Amino acid sequence: MTSKTNSMTTKTMTTQQIYDLAIKMGIESDPRGLKKVHELMKRKKIQYEKMSKDEKKYYNMEKLNNPYPDAMIFVGSPDKKIKKILAGIDIETPELLLADRIGGVDLVIAHHPEWPYIHEVMDMQVDFYNQCGIPINIAEWITKEWSREIERSTKPLNHERAIDAAKLLNLSLLAPHSCMDNLAHDYIDKLIKKNHPEYIEDILDILMEISEYQIATENGYGPSIFSGDKNNRVGKIIVEFAGGTSPSLKMYEKLSQAGVGTSVSMHIKEDARKEAEKYNMNIVIAGHYASDSLGTNLYLDEIEKNGIEIVPCSGLIRVKRFK
Ligand SMILES: [Zn+2]
Repeated sequence: MTSKTNSMTTKTMTTQQIYDLAIKMGIESDPRGLKKVHELMKRKKIQYEKMSKDEKKYYNMEKLNNPYPDAMIFVGSPDKKIKKILAGIDIETPELLLADRIGGVDLVIAHHPEWPYIHEVMDMQVDFYNQCGIPINIAEWITKEWSREIERSTKPLNHERAIDAAKLLNLSLLAPHSCMDNLAHDYIDKLIKKNHPEYIEDILDILMEISEYQIATENGYGPSIFSGDKNNRVGKIIVEFAGGTSPSLKMYEKLSQAGVGTSVSMHIKEDARKEAEKYNMNIVIAGHYASDSLGTNLYLDEIEKNGIEIVPCSGLIRVKRFK
């Protein structure tokens, strides 16, 4: 045991390897399925070829290698050897200063990215809601209208603040957002399918088997019912953890018409919750930071297995699923 631990602690990974691992795990757990992801990537390359010289000049080429525009190495050399990581849900200048203060941190991993492509990831929602039973044209029109609204609302944000701080402190910064959300989505989806819940309280019982939700409950922000009652029958269940951000509130009417009885989500805004209630849909909210922690942990476990030290911060409830 001691010799094994010693040999593990000598290992390192490069930033590129850590990033590639996120993309691989994200694709493997993508709710759209591997075939659809590959088809869409192929189409992205064809669209790029058709672009004008000027459009190509400003195109972020990484978008051709990676299906998630919200997952990227923001700062640092891909070849840098990493031994110690500070990982958190929201990373801003205070967390980067913390990394500097702790010392020895080579790389900072953020769950939430602060950058302008979140609306592009929302394309995932079109195929996802189509798979939930909504006709593709309706899923597409509603999602496109909503993603343009998200684009307009995120444009004025300060996208460079954390990036500038990381550069000044000589820290590498990586945020594989959708990869981690896909991992949490896949984990919960499989667990629910395996356990065949009949009532809403059965879903809560399933969630409460997960350590992150147990800890969140102890701390006052565990899973809860936002629409419906614990004695309601579940009907058709969907998990809505992936796709960049919440869907348009217009989606709830369509989901209800498509026969969806219950949605298990990370979070929901009040206007969307009212829509779900209006259309008789049960909503179970697993919890935002606990669910983000679950996805992040599934990814970090694969890194830590390589002997790399992980320091959790900023809302990350670190739970390991390996010995
Ligand atoms: Zn989140």
